[in-house]
Amino acid sequence: MAANPSTTLTGRGAGHGQAVGPVVQLAPPARRPADEPAGDPDTAGEVARTALNAVANDLTARAGDADGTLAEVLTVTAQMAADPQLTADIAQRAKHGDGPATAIWDAFDPFLEKLAGLGGYLAERVTDLRSVRDRAVNRALGLPEPGPARLVAPSVVVATDLSPADTSALDLGNVAAIVTEEGGPTSHTAIIAGQLGIPCVVRVAGATELPAGRLVAVDSVRGTVTLDPDDELIAAVTHAETARASVQGTAPATHTADGHPVSVLANVGTLADATSAAATGAVGVGLLRTEVLYLDRATAPSIDEQAAAYRDVLAQFPGGKVVVRTLDSGADKPLPFATQPDEENPALGVRGYRLARPRPELLDDQLAALARAQQDSDAELWVMAPMISTPAEAAEFAALARGHGLTRVGAMVEVPSAALRAREVLAELDFVSIGTNDLAQYTMAADRLRGELADLLDPWQPAVLDLVAATARAGADAGKPVGVCGESAGDPVMALALIGLGVTSLSMAPAAAAEVSHAVTGHTLAECRAVAAAALAATDAAGTREAAQAAVGGRS
Ligand code: PEP
Ligand code: MG
Repeated sequence: MAANPSTTLTGRGAGHGQAVGPVVQLAPPARRPADEPAGDPDTAGEVARTALNAVANDLTARAGDADGTLAEVLTVTAQMAADPQLTADIAQRAKHGDGPATAIWDAFDPFLEKLAGLGGYLAERVTDLRSVRDRAVNRALGLPEPGPARLVAPSVVVATDLSPADTSALDLGNVAAIVTEEGGPTSHTAIIAGQLGIPCVVRVAGATELPAGRLVAVDSVRGTVTLDPDDELIAAVTHAETARASVQGTAPATHTADGHPVSVLANVGTLADATSAAATGAVGVGLLRTEVLYLDRATAPSIDEQAAAYRDVLAQFPGGKVVVRTLDSGADKPLPFATQPDEENPALGVRGYRLARPRPELLDDQLAALARAQQDSDAELWVMAPMISTPAEAAEFAALARGHGLTRVGAMVEVPSAALRAREVLAELDFVSIGTNDLAQYTMAADRLRGELADLLDPWQPAVLDLVAATARAGADAGKPVGVCGESAGDPVMALALIGLGVTSLSMAPAAAAEVSHAVTGHTLAECRAVAAAALAATDAAGTREAAQAAVGGRS
């Protein structure tokens, strides 16, 4: 359905599905107190300390009541609130005459700046730290904590961004969708929305200006927020959501309706993700983002430590397949112990596999740890390198991995050069997996963190589909598996198109697996090929999507 562009805001889709509901704006953040009386320095220090402790304790208690990623994020945020350097700085400021709330506010500033300057994943933690500050400041001033209004009916929650504390205070049963002005695909908001299966659009310019109570339709696949949806759009959203709900619980697909083998696997980043994916029926992992395990680490993890972590993930999938990606540090996922200094364009810099140039020991240790984990496991360990650009890099990685005794060795196809030369890349490897998030970014030369470029970053862009098709053709000719593990695999219509192009496995956020599996088992390979052909015949992203959708609709 084409939305009227004049009433549609766009951003970056996250989470799953669509929803219609009234806007509830999250209360704006606290402000630096104006003219706070200084008072007695000892008392001011004590008030500030008590306020910060209360926030830390509250976050720890909420972590105890939550589970999965939310519990982990709340625990890390509680640790931030108890940081000794921060508390010492606050005490120092109080001693020099600041009131308690002012001391807290000003002491957080350099921390926030430093975190924002680190970029990527760490910069997206700024919202978490800001929320600790705001809560502590309001406590010190004797004001109620800033946070969400009580939701009395299913609502679209709109905010600058959501912190873990905001999320844990929300009545999630009444959150129809989340829309934020800031954040990014790896921000807390997007991660939690993905985990809970809530529709979400981040980086929507102007969202916080929407009046409370205004009816909006949120579409997480298109990344749109449509104001005042008409009856036709509301009916389409209701229909799509009813269909989505009816297929929840579908087991992961292993083949199409006519028996053509295709596996549906899970994307995971932590042990908690792996455990919850296994608990909801996932039979294997198509992408373990190992860098996510170490994003908060100042020093490189040891071989022993890594082996234990990988063993724990593998143990969740006995008899299943687990595709482990070696560290993909840099750009949107900088690891403090591996960040390259002074990169002007980190997305084009020493990231992913390229990190082995300055830091070969990091890759060597990781491969050693993986080999060790494989020995004690019933799961099938596959290993792949991110950001491979040439057949020579593929050959080099394969030699290293095989040298450690790893037997199923592959690479991600995320750089157009690897897709264009997929035949030669695959000649060195056992498999490839296409990362459509980065493949779209590099094909369209559009920063994946910029919501305003979402139309270019669209995996339905014909040029991106052409590169997927070229890679899948090379895989079919070589008789080697070609997976897709970018977010696009979680879109049921795209999943059919990908199978039609020759992709042999699809890996996605676990919340998308049931819907995709239902689509896969409900269509034959010939039907998937018709969907792919219809998409490839179109000339722009809207056209490929609509043509594919029409081809799916035309079948039933
Ligand atoms: C991708 O680029 O599509 C991918 C799966 O990797 P990541 O999103 O972790 O960069
Ligand atoms: Mg990538």
